[in-house]
Amino acid sequence: MKIDSAEHVRAAHVDGQFIRDDRPQIAFVGRSNVGKSSLMNRLLGRKKLARISSRPGRTRAVHYYLIERRFYFVDLPGYGYAKVSETERRNWAALVDRYFRSPQAPPLVVLIVDAKVGATPLDAQALEYLTSLEVPVAVAATKVDRVPRGKRSAKLAEVARNLGMTDRSRIILVSATSGEGTKELWREITAFLRAGPQGLDRGAEEEEHDG
Ligand code: GDP
Repeated sequence: MKIDSAEHVRAAHVDGQFIRDDRPQIAFVGRSNVGKSSLMNRLLGRKKLARISSRPGRTRAVHYYLIERRFYFVDLPGYGYAKVSETERRNWAALVDRYFRSPQAPPLVVLIVDAKVGATPLDAQALEYLTSLEVPVAVAATKVDRVPRGKRSAKLAEVARNLGMTDRSRIILVSATSGEGTKELWREITAFLRAGPQGLDRGAEEEEHDG
């Protein structure tokens, strides 16, 4: 997908700043340093759109990028950064939780894990949390350029197992460095975007259509 316009439109620190218009949102979440900014940049064909984090753990905001004036890429703060205090950790959880519970149509969540390191217990917790919210999730195992081809299938199985997923086809191997897998990830995103207004404005839709 060739992207012509992508602009940072907001950093939300509190509920009132969340964007609730009818454009669909693709939310990216993952461990600090997992490669989230790099992947977002690669998907958008930008060198540096989302800021590559020099100080992980410092970004405590929900960042919105308006893409082609049509949908948002939402950069959620990374979790599991070892050097933050318990209070900061709680603030992270609260901000992300409020984002997901704010009255907007559910976003597509791209949960990013490290293909080389594998899925950690925190990643599994994140998936469990997202599943409990019933939001659609695509798992992207990034940095796959660091996994030798002969070991990828086993790695995929391991990631699925660690995440407690029975369906491996829901995991996409990607790399921000080589660009591998970004087409497949875009396919997931465009399928979500095409699914149209039933995902976009549930409140209004539900009144008109029953089911
Ligand atoms: P974030 O904190 O999750 O946004 O992570 P960054 O995008 O800042 O990346 C963290 C580190 O991983 C940086 O040193 C990147 O250069 C590196 N990195 C990110 N994506 C890839 C990838 O696909 N392959 C490899 N080999 N390294 C990557």
